[in-house]
Amino acid sequence: MSKIGVFVCHCGENIAATVDCEKVANTAAKFDGVEFATDYKYMCSDPGQNLIKNAIKEHHLDGVVVASCSPRMHEPTFRKACSEAGLNPFMCEVANIREHCSWVHEKGDATTQKAIDIVRGLVEKVSRDHPLESIHVPITKKALVIGGGIAGIQASLDIANAGHKVILIERDPSIGGHMSQLSETFPTLDCSQCILTPRMVEVAQHPNITLYTYAELEKLEGFIGNFKATIRLKAKSIDEDVCTGCGTCTTKCPTKKIPSEFNQGLGNRTAIYVPFPQAVPNKPVIDKDHCLHYQKGVCGLCEKVCPTHAIHFGQDDSFITEDVGAVVLATGFNVLNTDFFPEYGYGKYKDVITGLQFERLASASGPTSGEIRRPSDGKIPQKIVFIACAGSRDPAKGIPYCSKICCMYTAKHAMLYQHKVHDGESTVFYMDIRAAGKNYEEFVRRAIEEDGVNYVRGRVARVYEKDGKLIVKGVDTLLGAKPVEIEADMVVLATAGVANAGAEELAQKLHVSYDPYHFFAEAHPKLRPVETNTAGIYLAGACQAPKDIPDTVAAASGAAVKVAGLFSQPDLVREPIIAKVNRMPPPVFSTCVGCFMCETACPYNAIEREEIKDRRSGKVIKTIAKVNPGLCQGCGTCVSFCRSKSIDMQGFSNEEMFAEVQALLED
Ligand code: SF4
Ligand code: SF4
Ligand code: SF4
Ligand code: SF4
Ligand code: SF4
Repeated sequence: MSKIGVFVCHCGENIAATVDCEKVANTAAKFDGVEFATDYKYMCSDPGQNLIKNAIKEHHLDGVVVASCSPRMHEPTFRKACSEAGLNPFMCEVANIREHCSWVHEKGDATTQKAIDIVRGLVEKVSRDHPLESIHVPITKKALVIGGGIAGIQASLDIANAGHKVILIERDPSIGGHMSQLSETFPTLDCSQCILTPRMVEVAQHPNITLYTYAELEKLEGFIGNFKATIRLKAKSIDEDVCTGCGTCTTKCPTKKIPSEFNQGLGNRTAIYVPFPQAVPNKPVIDKDHCLHYQKGVCGLCEKVCPTHAIHFGQDDSFITEDVGAVVLATGFNVLNTDFFPEYGYGKYKDVITGLQFERLASASGPTSGEIRRPSDGKIPQKIVFIACAGSRDPAKGIPYCSKICCMYTAKHAMLYQHKVHDGESTVFYMDIRAAGKNYEEFVRRAIEEDGVNYVRGRVARVYEKDGKLIVKGVDTLLGAKPVEIEADMVVLATAGVANAGAEELAQKLHVSYDPYHFFAEAHPKLRPVETNTAGIYLAGACQAPKDIPDTVAAASGAAVKVAGLFSQPDLVREPIIAKVNRMPPPVFSTCVGCFMCETACPYNAIEREEIKDRRSGKVIKTIAKVNPGLCQGCGTCVSFCRSKSIDMQGFSNEEMFAEVQALLED
């Protein structure tokens, strides 16, 4: 016979204003199994908690129901109080009579009766509850960071500086990401490379960081604290241990006309190449798709000229596995494929370029050494038009969201142009100016007021060529949708920020949710912005949504703190609210028939197979399902799939739930 205590909280006036708390306590005192019941103004306060603790000790209670606010608010508080009084914390239930009752009903008998019914349900449940023990999971204190842009760099350095090992993988030949392609950064106009390069070098030299470039995650198995990552190291056709980075091979390679990805097609590279002068590592890779040796079986010049015999044409992709306790996703973003804008003439007119191409023109390390020159003829454009929201905020293009960074980088581009071409004319077509950030509004104002950039509010309908000039045709909505046509030597599109190629596939590999645009989804937009719904996998930067550099760095440090917090624990303590397959004495062992419907249903891969063997012969008698407690998230999906009712949720078993519902339905 259980001895249950019921503690009814007034929550000040929050509950007591509409519920007669004293009556709830007096009625509950008469329920079967209830040994003690009382009400109090603030049950979560120190005196309230002491009231619970003293009653547990005095009345030898073996179950507690606290009728109060939502369990999301104070369940841990009340469970801790029970534990301190010597009661198993999972023998404490919280009856939510605030959100589910007092807040949503008027004062009256019916409201009080509803509170009584809710309490009765929980009394029935707690009398069937079993004491549970928290789960302790060991933690491998090494992190995997996927993506070597500024987000991955920052997260890796923060975790490494906290004293933990980091494996950083980057799919390109160098770390640096988009930030390494930028000229200056807003709103301070710092040189992007100058602030980034020292960090890239720090990553390469940090004793706690192992860097793999030209590498991709092949597979991730396991669970928080205990992941096993399989990493594909793509063949670079170079022995990096022997290569000195002398560069002889790249100068001798005869394939000179391969469009450089780093320069966004505005410059060329060779088949054996280092993507940019400050690349880390500063050693070449061979692009097999363009190499004459791989494509035609000829050349081999690089092999002949290499003084250290570092060229290895026979090298294949290889695989390594790493045990890690946490994963940080820092795969960044991309810019919208420009095929989306036939109306702006991208691809048709050489002098219609993207914002990222403009960055390469403005950069001292770019193809024009920082001079703004037209791709068509190398001349300096005297009139330039920037088109904001190119693709963004346009449901017709499938991108209804604002890309957040383009208002600012467009203002920066126009400003840089005016600084470099003093007598030039720049015009920005915009829908709204979104400059929400520290010193951002002032920056845009500076572009308009000090640098003389002409801002026209309106959408551009079309860009076309007439008499060798580009004509930008749009409307000025501030002049009553007046049609305007502006002549331009060059047009720059502020293309939308989109999820990186392969983001959806990676999310599926990691069982991480993603939004309709394939950006990774956070566990909670406000309270858990750098966590995913898969424990132990965190988000850093623009893989979550377009972000500027300060927000990216802040998010990366946030993710790193989460990892360091996880690694600071001796082991992982988790609530035992997980599924469990029933076990019985031989010869039955379990009612599980091994259909493994639960395995197909489980979204977290938490169902494993267990062979039951005959003790004498050692032969397998049956194979049944088994729940991996580290992986199970307690979602309950498997329970509803099991036709033989062999799997149940600890703390929310069918018996407990049916008893609660039955009690609620009673008069
Ligand atoms: Fe490396 Fe040889 Fe090329 Fe020099 S020539 S960069 S050592 S592969
Ligand atoms: Fe270039 Fe390939 Fe010839 Fe080497 S073998 S020099 S990479 S084309
Ligand atoms: Fe348009 Fe500005 Fe938003 Fe970019 S940041 S999508 S340019 S409103
Ligand atoms: Fe099938 Fe149920 Fe056993 Fe899973 S627990 S294998 S669903 S019988
Ligand atoms: Fe998988 Fe959810 Fe069942 Fe746990 S409760 S084993 S996570 S389906």
